[in-house]
Amino acid sequence: MIAKLSQLFVRTLRDDPADAEVPSHRWLVRAGYIRRAAPGIYSWLPLGLKVLQKVEQIVREEMDAIGAQEVRFPALLPREPYEATGRWTDYGDNLFRVVDRKGTDMLLGPTHEEMFTLMVKDLYNSYKDLPLSLYQIQTKYRDEARPRAGLLRGREFIMKDSYSFDVDDAGLEASYQRHREAYQRIFERLGLEFVIVSAMAGAMGGSRSEEFLAVAANGEDTFVRSPGGYAANVEAVRVAPPAETPVEDAPTMAVIDTPQAGSIAAVLEILNRELPERTWSGADTLKNVLFMVIEPDGTKRPLAIGLPGDREVDAKRLEAALEPAVAEPFTDEDFKQFPDLVVGFMSPVSIDGARVLGKESSTKIEYLTDPRVVTGTHWVTGANVRDQHLTGVTVGRDFTADGVLDVADVREGDEAPDGSGPLTLARGIEMGHIFQLGRKYAEALGLKVLDQNGKLVTVTMGSYGVGVSRAVAAVAEATSDEKGLNWPLSLAPYQVHVIATGKGEEIFGEAQRIAEELDAQGMDVLYDDRKASPGVKFADSEVMGMPIIVVVGRGLADGVVELRERASGEKREVAVGDIVTEVIALAAAGGPQA
Ligand code: ATP
Ligand code: MG
Repeated sequence: MIAKLSQLFVRTLRDDPADAEVPSHRWLVRAGYIRRAAPGIYSWLPLGLKVLQKVEQIVREEMDAIGAQEVRFPALLPREPYEATGRWTDYGDNLFRVVDRKGTDMLLGPTHEEMFTLMVKDLYNSYKDLPLSLYQIQTKYRDEARPRAGLLRGREFIMKDSYSFDVDDAGLEASYQRHREAYQRIFERLGLEFVIVSAMAGAMGGSRSEEFLAVAANGEDTFVRSPGGYAANVEAVRVAPPAETPVEDAPTMAVIDTPQAGSIAAVLEILNRELPERTWSGADTLKNVLFMVIEPDGTKRPLAIGLPGDREVDAKRLEAALEPAVAEPFTDEDFKQFPDLVVGFMSPVSIDGARVLGKESSTKIEYLTDPRVVTGTHWVTGANVRDQHLTGVTVGRDFTADGVLDVADVREGDEAPDGSGPLTLARGIEMGHIFQLGRKYAEALGLKVLDQNGKLVTVTMGSYGVGVSRAVAAVAEATSDEKGLNWPLSLAPYQVHVIATGKGEEIFGEAQRIAEELDAQGMDVLYDDRKASPGVKFADSEVMGMPIIVVVGRGLADGVVELRERASGEKREVAVGDIVTEVIALAAAGGPQA
């Protein structure tokens, strides 16, 4: 197919869109691939749509290859199934809720577990019908709090979502593995550098879950890896607790005056001066931080988190741990409700041994501690009295927390939970997410089949997503340069961009002929036939990012044209009679390599 630039519905822009934060967003808009319709909502123009369709095709082929069958569900959905699983409420403000003319509540689907579960329940009833994997490539709606970076985080976006149905756990494991391998092939074919990391299941429920992250400095996700092969989203890191020790070995609790010492640094200075027999560091102190937890239905409850003083509560880890509830730091108003708490000197226990934090205490504030705060460890913490701290506050003797909450920040150099070496941190874009849902949805919606013994059993499910529109941006993010987009051959809207420069009829005639011949050989060709200056045409070709560029211009008089590679910027002269063969050979080799 040949597209003539004089006819193509596209305008390149000289200036960055005002809200562009990342290269993919800037270039996809400037090159005329997408246009913003509303915050987080984009229209696809011809060039962008072609890339999107190529991504879809790769995803489709790999899903078909594992025997998944394509279907398509509506985006506009009834409330009841989502009510049955609790997600009508749990999704909170992220859910687009709509009301029809009869006053019936509906929603725009953020993901479709409920609908697929009900469809299979409608049609199937025996173990003989399983295993089954279904998928769709479809538009999703989420009223994201912070739509950003163009296609990377939209409020309307395209997802491939698939769902597996098995009669037993071994079947689920096999379906999960097949998806995992299909995803590896998808992201390899997209040319993305990616890592597979352990993930949190989040609002989805279920157990095992992994994410596929495209390694990218602009990514919103932080992940860790160790030399020994541990890899996890930072939200999913579970700190390995140290061994418990006998409380009898711990020092007795003692009071130390800490005038004006409202900060950990100030407390440490006093400790190291007054108790010099050892060196005190932030890791010896227990910091207590208060949050107000807000459930999706609006109810509020206070939560105290105790963690080593050299660590901070990581907002994303906290968010992931509490989801679907959200946490907000305690305000002055919140503190007023708890006059027993002495801000700056808070402690789970007071000097006289009475509990201050914890469900059993005077405040009744739930108290959860970091995994490092195990029985037998002893800490310096506030005395819950102004200008005083306590030393030797021992877990299991002086206080016991209500539970563990693993939300402290994870740092470069921390030991991996599996002991496989020090962690390094990097950033990535979540491209795909695979979950073993188990029986949560099937149970809530009553999806059962008869097993081999004629007994009704609940089906076990997996759910698997790929961000298809996000993938367009992630590839652009990884490949674009300071001049514009720069597509791999497999995803480019057109493989070859033929440019006629100059005025001669002959030049345009020859350029047209080359374009036609390439087209006849099965190449997708964009032909710049416009009456514009060479400078404009070259700049546009760089912004639009086709991998192979053929320039037909002055050299034609000497029987040569120019072959350019967008990725490397390399140019060479090729005899006009050889250009088609050269281009085809370059394409057959997978296109120009960066
Ligand atoms: P994130 O943590 O980035 O919000 P998620 O965990 O909510 O993602 P899933 O519900 O697992 O994502 O959705 C499956 C895939 O859909 C994700 O891996 C991602 O590629 C894509 N995706 C999710 N939300 C968006 C969005 N707002 N815009 C574009 N793609 C998205
Ligand atoms: Mg999300």
